[in-house]
Amino acid sequence: MSAQPPLTFAIVGAGFSGMAVAVQLLQRLEGPARVCLINRSLSFGRGMAYGTNSPSHLLNVPAGRMSIDPAQESGFIDYVRSRGLNFHAGDFVPRSLYGDYLERCLLRAQSAAADGVKLELVEAEVLRIDMDADGRSPVLHLNTGRTIEAAQVVLALGNFTPRAPATQSPANWMHAPLVNDVWSHGVLDQLDADASVLLVGTGLTAYDAVLRLLDQGHRGSITMLSRRALLPQPHREQETPPAAGLVPADALKGVTSLRAQMREVRRMIRDSAAAGHDWRDVIGGLRAHTPRLWQQLSERSRAQFVRHLGPHWDTHRHRAAPAIYRRIQAALNAGQLSVLQGRLVDVTVTDAPGARVTWRPRGATDNRTGDYRVVINCTGPSSDLHRVSDPLIAQLRDAGALRVDPLALGLAVDDQYRVLRRDGRALQGVRYVGPLLKAQHWEATAVPELRVHAKSVAACVLKSETVALDVRS
Ligand SMILES: Cc1cc2nc3c(=O)[nH]c(=O)nc-3n(C[C@H](O)[C@H](O)[C@H](O)COP(=O)(O)OP(=O)(O)OC[C@H]3O[C@@H](n4cnc5c(N)ncnc54)[C@H](O)[C@@H]3O)c2cc1C
Repeated sequence: MSAQPPLTFAIVGAGFSGMAVAVQLLQRLEGPARVCLINRSLSFGRGMAYGTNSPSHLLNVPAGRMSIDPAQESGFIDYVRSRGLNFHAGDFVPRSLYGDYLERCLLRAQSAAADGVKLELVEAEVLRIDMDADGRSPVLHLNTGRTIEAAQVVLALGNFTPRAPATQSPANWMHAPLVNDVWSHGVLDQLDADASVLLVGTGLTAYDAVLRLLDQGHRGSITMLSRRALLPQPHREQETPPAAGLVPADALKGVTSLRAQMREVRRMIRDSAAAGHDWRDVIGGLRAHTPRLWQQLSERSRAQFVRHLGPHWDTHRHRAAPAIYRRIQAALNAGQLSVLQGRLVDVTVTDAPGARVTWRPRGATDNRTGDYRVVINCTGPSSDLHRVSDPLIAQLRDAGALRVDPLALGLAVDDQYRVLRRDGRALQGVRYVGPLLKAQHWEATAVPELRVHAKSVAACVLKSETVALDVRS
């Protein structure tokens, strides 16, 4: 009798989402099976968020809520303590530590996997996905020339490099003095400490850049520019989960108008303040309901929210660790850091060397100009799949295999996380998990949500009727 060949499960991308799916599959599969975790680089578990080596780059979620498995809430903090570090559940710890934790989770799941369940780490970029000759199994084409035929594929492609800011004249953001991707390795290392720097954006990405510059002893001026000049709010020291019952389970049920939703949220914040709570408790309490509230809105209302309220929501919802906020405030008070409110109009490279930046203050009719040694795009990861140049996304998009969100927030999946084609049919054997779920859930970019989605995707993969296998309960 010939042995049953192993079923192959391919996960494309090994940031948090891909690692979390891999861990779930390794924990639950009975052999014979092979989990192929494919990542562009060998830094598994890092991705854009946890690839930083700066101790100043802290998580923006308390350690007690960062466990890879929502069913074992103390997972991450236990790991941190096992390394002899004295952090508490409400603390904000370095992001690099989180990458170490993810790696450890994968190694543990691998060594505890059932006999016949193998993990294969593949350093490669997946360039395209086709169907096999029967049209049933996806076949992955890697940049190494290898192909992998899989029973099931999970796309965990993560965050895409920022979209270059729109300017009147064409600007090459791939070359100094313009920097498009502040997370690419070593991009700020050679910078003259006295250089004047303009950061386009005032969100958490800009905070990352400011911290990086201050850490390397930058003495020159740092200016941040954004349309509204809204800065991310701080978390409280020792951030705790919101008090139970502050936001009722049926909050805003059936409230389909954006205006009415906002009115109700403001009322909740007022009432909670009167009862001695903080607005953060309401924003935190709403988190579990946000997908439902988002789905209750019409497409038009969603567009209005993104345009008018999105920046306010983001600065209150995606907050900075208190230590980071204090350093930003200190730099502002010292005058080294400043904020401009307005719109970037144009950038031209000068002989000086540097760049002349034209911008229009909010509400003004005239432009202003400023000269900077370096201009850094800090507008954050792009989710506009119409424009990202990623080869795999381009192939799937051009083949009609993706339904791109009209608000450029991500892509559409069905309730089994199967990627929806442009014609609305599900793409056979191909699922998605990651920040692009924002299109459907709005709240889907951070670990507390992504870990739940990752667990559900793994369950769908294992349950899938096309795959006959044993699964551990
Ligand atoms: C700077 C930053 C800081 C953040 N901080 C926090 C935080 O403190 N707490 C929190 O909860 N959330 C944070 N987030 C949110 C973040 O989106 C999630 O926490 C999480 O990291 C997303 O993981 P991911 O695996 O979906 O994506 P990513 O981390 O982006 O990983 C995707 C991986 O897939 C690889 N990949 C993509 N395409 C291919 C391909 N075709 N072939 C092979 N490999 C491919 C990429 O190279 C990458 O390694 C942060 C985000 C950013 C950008």
